[in-house]
Amino acid sequence: MTSFSLPKTYDFKSTEERIYAWWETSGYFKPTNDPNIQDFDPDIEPYVISIPPPNVTGELHLGHAMFVSMEDLMIRYHRMKGFSTLWVPGTDHAGIATQLQVEKALAEENLTREQIGRDEFLRRTWEWKEKYGGIITQQIRRLGASCDWDRERFTLDEGLSKAVREAFVRLYEKGLIYRGPRLINWSPGLKTAVSDLEVEYSEEPGELYYFKYMIAGSDSEYIPVATTRPETILADTGLAVHPEDSRYREFVGREVVVPILGRHIPVIADEYVDREFGTGALKITPGHDPNDYAIGERHGLEVISVLDESARVNEQGGPYSGQDRFEARDNLWKDMGAAGLVIKEEPYMMKIPRSQRGGEIIEPMISTQWFVRIQPLADAALAAVRDGRIQIIPEHFTKVYYNWLENIEDWCISRQLWWGHRIPVWICNDCGEVIVTREDPTECTRCGSTDLYQDPDVLDTWFSSGLWPFSTLGWPEETPDYQYFYPTTMMETGYDILFFWVARMIMDGLEFTDQVPFNQVYLHGLIRDETGRKMSKSYGNVIDPLVVMDDLGTDALRFTLLVGSSPGNDMNLSLKKVEANRNFANKVWNAARFVLGSLEQVIDNSPPNLDEVATATLADQWICTRLESLVWDVERLFQNYQYGEAGRQIYDFFWSEYADWYLEIAKLQLAEGGGRAYATARNLVQVLDTCLRMLHPFTPFVTEEIWGHLKAAAAEIKPPILPLHGAAWEEALIVAAWPEHKPGTQPEEQAVADFALIMEIVRSIRNLRAEKNVKPTHRIPATLVGGAHTAILQGQSRTIASLARLDPHQLTILESLEDKPEGDIALVVGSVEVYLPLEGLLDTTEQRTRLEKEQAETKSQIKRLQALLSGQFSEKAPPDVVEKERRKLANYQEKANKIASQLESLNGG
Ligand SMILES: [Zn+2]
Repeated sequence: MTSFSLPKTYDFKSTEERIYAWWETSGYFKPTNDPNIQDFDPDIEPYVISIPPPNVTGELHLGHAMFVSMEDLMIRYHRMKGFSTLWVPGTDHAGIATQLQVEKALAEENLTREQIGRDEFLRRTWEWKEKYGGIITQQIRRLGASCDWDRERFTLDEGLSKAVREAFVRLYEKGLIYRGPRLINWSPGLKTAVSDLEVEYSEEPGELYYFKYMIAGSDSEYIPVATTRPETILADTGLAVHPEDSRYREFVGREVVVPILGRHIPVIADEYVDREFGTGALKITPGHDPNDYAIGERHGLEVISVLDESARVNEQGGPYSGQDRFEARDNLWKDMGAAGLVIKEEPYMMKIPRSQRGGEIIEPMISTQWFVRIQPLADAALAAVRDGRIQIIPEHFTKVYYNWLENIEDWCISRQLWWGHRIPVWICNDCGEVIVTREDPTECTRCGSTDLYQDPDVLDTWFSSGLWPFSTLGWPEETPDYQYFYPTTMMETGYDILFFWVARMIMDGLEFTDQVPFNQVYLHGLIRDETGRKMSKSYGNVIDPLVVMDDLGTDALRFTLLVGSSPGNDMNLSLKKVEANRNFANKVWNAARFVLGSLEQVIDNSPPNLDEVATATLADQWICTRLESLVWDVERLFQNYQYGEAGRQIYDFFWSEYADWYLEIAKLQLAEGGGRAYATARNLVQVLDTCLRMLHPFTPFVTEEIWGHLKAAAAEIKPPILPLHGAAWEEALIVAAWPEHKPGTQPEEQAVADFALIMEIVRSIRNLRAEKNVKPTHRIPATLVGGAHTAILQGQSRTIASLARLDPHQLTILESLEDKPEGDIALVVGSVEVYLPLEGLLDTTEQRTRLEKEQAETKSQIKRLQALLSGQFSEKAPPDVVEKERRKLANYQEKANKIASQLESLNGG
């Protein structure tokens, strides 16, 4: 195989792996300006992204494929623009998710983590991580991610653990970390507090239970109340009504009796109560409901916790203690019925909080946990977006961000798990001193006792991922990486974790580094199925990116995800779209094969006449001008984060203009030989090269593969063909220069307009041919009346004739025409008239067959009607009905005559 030929089809399977390995071993993923080596230039601007770390034991899904594709596009684009780019990869230890995996494995051996103990459990979890932790990063590589793998980080690394310790101690010393009882989300299955992120709400049918809250000291007076969770009655410490509700105003300040338990609790007035909902009275359970907790705080109500860590009723629940929450619900309701306190039950749709990991219903519970006092951090994070130090894309998410931070609650950071960063707090068994230090203490700082124990809990996973942009660069050490690459440039992630992760990184960055952790936040949407439904296992509509890459190639998947997305909007994905983009990759491949073939045609030419080379044809001018404006548009769209639209424009240009039109015209120009052929080959190469550069961030593999061949072939031509936008071919496309719009180049707008007219004429003729079923091999005569465009048409007559399959010897181009050719079909394209002789368009045999068939049909109708009208029908049927049939007959007879004369003229012609 010479350098001028590409294999017939693009084999993405072998290419992707080979090219990725070549990029990596060539060091292209590393920053070009590295602060750790000599010749470092601090003035070169870096472009830095920290990858959103996937769970270390995770498996690739479309969400990963989306962010990897998007960030790789941003990194590749900036690398080509000359930035010193760094994309820091890594994984998250993912406390609950990983711990559950290991617990599941233990369960298969009939073991629990408690049985094997903490040390052994952690040993096994590390073992698990070593075994499976590389899978997700291997899968990310398959997507073409150009991360600097030498800088890969893991949240439980030594360095990152040191950062976590430093952050905790600093917050504690500033008084921003405290321990206390508060309402948190409790997972009874996992027996740990979970973050809001780990709670999913599902619409489920339930019951609304109506019952009587008896007024203390009265046998008949009561306030009706409705609840969806009767078992929480056991923990009620108040009953609230709206202060202006005339139904209940008289009871405010009195007491009601808790059913079965007999405790007396106050009736309070609070404007939070919705008079329209339920009965208009609200039972208050501060120990098991976040809203009630807030009301309870306002009114100084007691907080009773009635459930234990497995969500069983505790000793506060009287006769129900020891029962499971749902068992207690049934029993209490039965007993209340027997006591005459039940009013009714009605079906009710409600939002049930379920554990994302375990699936069981989350219970809001009071628990003693570690918290971060968040307000001061939130204020700083709000200011950073308000004053523009951080830009959120799309902009409308800034409102969501403000709203969340303005209403933020203290952050529960402790988890009752074993896998994670252990809370760096030691307590003295002798004097109770709490010791929080950067180094593990060996003795009590107050009494000197060595009898210390460490808090058994670990930190919320988000505590370490909040430090990610700077902990991965070496913080708290002032490493060269930290000094040069921090703050990072772009944080790209799904909008669903704007709060949980992005807001925390901003708060932490400002708190610990006095700088914003990144300048821009780009939020992509979620991926739904082709009908817009969420992808889920239960719908059976989940698309596995690994299968798609196996079947259709990585480039096709990436292009589909990137072109289908726009900032902040969800996208619908179908395999049909990926298939179409696989076809696009093939289209690019086939176009490249043609271009390489054209180079082979000109290699043996005598040195071209340079004067002739300099004269561009209309098609050359058109394609070059269109390319320049595409370069300009794509750059503008990239600057505005409209990557999807940029991809669509490159696609359209490549497919509809370059491949479908210019390549066709190039065949004619190449056939002319000499300088014309050389100039055409040069144009073909330069336009293809520019397109490959712009496509590279979208579809890195196929473009790199083609580009390598193109570069080699172009170098063999004499004189060698150079890239349009460069003085030499670079080492590899991944590090080639991004096409810049040449300022000052005169766009050939006239050429574009003239060529558009030619295309329109050709299209109209092609459409008519298709409509009339004219065989492609059949060249037809034509007359073009051009008016003001006559000279253009005359100059392009060969092109028009070739593309519209006209007979060049019977193509007449006139400025005006007095008498319109009779019997011709006339097309009007702008101010140009096109006449095509009808008989030239028709296949007479086919037409005769069609007419004869129609004639036979008509004659049989005539026969039928004649028979009908000559019989009794004419006398017996009502006159108007008979008349109608007579008219039908007359119409058929007229039609038969017309067909007969058409057949006659066909035979005559
Ligand atoms: Zn002590």
